[in-house]
Amino acid sequence: MISDLVVIGGGASGFMGAITAASNGIRSVVILESTSKVLEKVRISGGGRCNVTNSCWDISDLVSNYPRGEKQLIGLFNRFSTTEAYDWFQNRGLSLKIEKDGRIFPCSDSSYDVMKCLKDFADKSGVKVFTNSHVKQINKTSDGFDLFVKGNNYFNTKNILVCTGGHPSGRKLAKSLGHSIVQPVPSLFSLSTSEKSLESCSGITVNVQTKLTVLKKKYNETGPILITHKGFSGPVILRLSAFSARDLHANKYIGDLKINWLCMCENEVRMKIDLYKIENGKKLVLNNKPFNHLPKSLWRALLLSEKIHSQLRWCELTKHDKESIVKSLILKSYSINSRGPFGEEFVTAGGVSLKEINFKTMESKICKGLFFAGEVLNIDGITGGFNFQHCWTSGWVAGNAVV
Ligand SMILES: Cc1cc2nc3c(=O)[nH]c(=O)nc-3n(C[C@H](O)[C@H](O)[C@H](O)COP(=O)(O)OP(=O)(O)OC[C@H]3O[C@@H](n4cnc5c(N)ncnc54)[C@H](O)[C@@H]3O)c2cc1C
Repeated sequence: MISDLVVIGGGASGFMGAITAASNGIRSVVILESTSKVLEKVRISGGGRCNVTNSCWDISDLVSNYPRGEKQLIGLFNRFSTTEAYDWFQNRGLSLKIEKDGRIFPCSDSSYDVMKCLKDFADKSGVKVFTNSHVKQINKTSDGFDLFVKGNNYFNTKNILVCTGGHPSGRKLAKSLGHSIVQPVPSLFSLSTSEKSLESCSGITVNVQTKLTVLKKKYNETGPILITHKGFSGPVILRLSAFSARDLHANKYIGDLKINWLCMCENEVRMKIDLYKIENGKKLVLNNKPFNHLPKSLWRALLLSEKIHSQLRWCELTKHDKESIVKSLILKSYSINSRGPFGEEFVTAGGVSLKEINFKTMESKICKGLFFAGEVLNIDGITGGFNFQHCWTSGWVAGNAVV
């Protein structure tokens, strides 16, 4: 079969690339998908709701959510950003809603509606989709490419858009055409610690300031942390894991996590303790706390870990006790000893090297007519709709460039 554009991979970026190219006049656009189903990750994403994008409309804020690709995405987002993605889906009949934390979902809370929108528009624009069509090999010819597909099928095309996500076969194909690959490592996971003192607080979420030290590099993040059975999770940890993904991997997931449970400075904490001591001398320290927003069970666990006696009264508090409390509340470090499970979303950090891509077109600088979009590239975002946004953007830019 001969075509103008073959898109390898029927995921988010592949559909966006194919629809954009076909609806802008490219005559024969084909999607080749390995498995029997397209858009499978869209279906399972966001717990079945599909977090399509995020209401982070400002481009300089938006790019700060991408541990890899921040610089390259500035130019891309100037052409097709969260605003354009939002309008793209709304204009095609998919009603979207913005949640309090900025995440954008279909109003129906069903990822099937996002899939339907993409499938319907691919169909309307004349895109042909072939499932069970795993691309095994690509040969460059004088005016395009020959593709060899599972089942002895053969395609000839002028342009290829590689949208194979985190699957190793896409990176293998890119390598065979001269591209270098940044070794993939996991991103967006929780962190485990051998420290047992917080086990009783599992399930509690608190707003904290954190500092993760790995291989002498420091990563600071502020936000909600979730205490789990084995360690820590929640938005702040997922963000830390994404930004330190390479260093953590290199250091076998060993690091040091300092947590300020109050988001306060030392002086402020000491002053609050002093004042509370004066007014509540007869009360037990373990049962009465100066920090209202800190959950009671966490206060107790933190103090017990610093050997504060359960019968100690505020009036009996020594200078040493006070320093132990300050340490446990805002200065304590937890040894991280392994990677915990993934959250709702997981992505690969790594992929086709960004140095070899022209970010005005998403075309390879090494091989003319070869384009890339989505997770196959060494670009990834934190959780919150940023990974799909990158797929819509790079797919749209590539689809237009082929035209
Ligand atoms: C459980 C989960 C939940 C997620 N939730 C969200 C979310 O809510 N919001 C968000 O922004 N991100 C989310 N993500 C991340 C997001 O799903 C990915 O970043 C995104 O799907 C990547 O899209 P893609 O088009 O690059 O690749 P994919 O969606 O992975 O599609 C690649 C396709 O290529 C096919 N393929 C691979 N190799 C070949 C080959 N050689 N020949 C033919 N076909 C091939 C694969 O079968 C696959 O269908 C989630 C991820 C997971 C795993």
